[in-house]
Amino acid sequence: MTNEENDFPEEYKILLKKVEALEKALELYKIDNIIEEKVTDTESISIETISEDDLQIKPRSEIALNPKAYLKLAKHALTYANKNVPKKDWVEVIGLLTGKIRNEDTPLEQIFVEDYWPVDQGDAVSVEIVDQRIFTEIFNKKDSNHFIIGWAHSHPSYTPFLSDDDYSTHLRYQTFWNKSIALVIDPLMITPANFGVGVFRIHDDKRNYYELSCEIQGMSSEASYESITMFMKTKLNQND
Ligand SMILES: [Zn+2]
Repeated sequence: MTNEENDFPEEYKILLKKVEALEKALELYKIDNIIEEKVTDTESISIETISEDDLQIKPRSEIALNPKAYLKLAKHALTYANKNVPKKDWVEVIGLLTGKIRNEDTPLEQIFVEDYWPVDQGDAVSVEIVDQRIFTEIFNKKDSNHFIIGWAHSHPSYTPFLSDDDYSTHLRYQTFWNKSIALVIDPLMITPANFGVGVFRIHDDKRNYYELSCEIQGMSSEASYESITMFMKTKLNQND
């Protein structure tokens, strides 16, 4: 007897196992409780609750991050690079982003990042999307409305931007979907006033990349910082 999952190539089964193991090791499942305490306007977590009227009148960003996705990424990045660990031991983390696009090809177009899936960490990390369809099928098992909208990785203490290698990697993501995004987080830049993230995409002429405006939906940077501190169970900065 076969089912769809058995038809997936071995490398994708390994990827999914890695994600599940990391989510467990990092206790990312605990994020929901922390968000409940910190996001006062819990309805704002779901993009479905934004009415067209809201979109018309409120200044809005091109990218909206679900607090859950942001906090999972921040925790993954901080676990492998923080001030309580010697700098020589800091390493990058990488993962995939799932979400959806709203109001596509209109002036109100917005990409909603629903979730972050940790994949790996180390000195030279990468996630190659060989077949977007297979990735999508794997992640569809978790939420049928969402698809892979890009990837995220960390730059411990060297600010969010796309390096030459990141640029080449992201070009491949945009080959599968030209609106794919590359989210970069510098975990050492996270403060009560700064989320420490940049979201990037490559221009159609493939000569350069640009930064997209981004917000953490329904969560201030102060509340986010408090949540991360709670989540890490340790103070991020000794002097705060
Ligand atoms: Zn990079």
